[in-house]
Amino acid sequence: MKRLPHGLPSGNPPAARPRPGFPARLDTPTAPAAARPGAPVGKPALATRAAPTTTGLGMDSQAVRAAMVRKLQAQGVSHPAVLAAMNAVERHRFVDSALVNQAYEDTSLPIGLGQKISKPNVVARMIELLCQGRTQKLGRVLEIGTGCGYQAAVLSHVSREVYSIERLRGLHEKARENLRPFRLSNVHLLFGDGMVGYAQGAPYAAIIAAAGGDVIPQAWVDQLVVGGRLVAPTVNAAGRQNLVVIDKTATGVLRSELEAVHFVPLKSGIA
Ligand code: SAH
Repeated sequence: MKRLPHGLPSGNPPAARPRPGFPARLDTPTAPAAARPGAPVGKPALATRAAPTTTGLGMDSQAVRAAMVRKLQAQGVSHPAVLAAMNAVERHRFVDSALVNQAYEDTSLPIGLGQKISKPNVVARMIELLCQGRTQKLGRVLEIGTGCGYQAAVLSHVSREVYSIERLRGLHEKARENLRPFRLSNVHLLFGDGMVGYAQGAPYAAIIAAAGGDVIPQAWVDQLVVGGRLVAPTVNAAGRQNLVVIDKTATGVLRSELEAVHFVPLKSGIA
């Protein structure tokens, strides 16, 4: 059973800016990049939202995030829009308070119900694969496996519209809570089985899966636009999970198998 897409509230009054103590670092511009339609993706502002600060990292998280982005660059991530998005999204707001201090380390972290938020490096790598060769924002993107909502937030900065589907109700609700303060009006969270994609939003310019099965569901390929790209972890015949890239062309589908990854399993049904 699926629910219709419901955008995160966009008409709400802006969250009150925290009144900083003194001295304070105010390095968080007021509007997220996604709130400025038409902003060129090639040269996006390194903007973050200004929402009340409730975690230990406080307003200095920008410096920690900038260090994470420098590390991503050293690891080979180079697309300007992807780096800007990784710089903008406050990953520490998507993890439990006990894990906040690890939020910007290159590690996956538990998000409850046996699932995990992917490493920043893997998030950036996969989104860079989607953006490869493009200087404009992606059109509509489908994400399978919302989890805590972090990757959906990153995607919202590099695409016009994000549909993100999660099969575990608890995580779907958690993502909604996590994303609410960001007021990303172009993110639509869906509760349902992503194995069948989300036909109502098709065709997608890009599809990204955060969970890996043995095969890539045909529905995903069907829902990809001609010229679109899909990136998904997939277990091969040797039992190894690799990143797989599918490019849909007018004459067929091109498949490339890339490096090994370790994603949670893609499961069918809802729970
Ligand atoms: N992108 C997420 C990563 C979450 S881990 C983040 O940023 O946090 C992968 C998620 O995929 C899990 O939450 C898991 O429940 C979900 N998942 C697995 N199979 C699925 C399916 N068939 N449909 C939708 N979600 C699925």
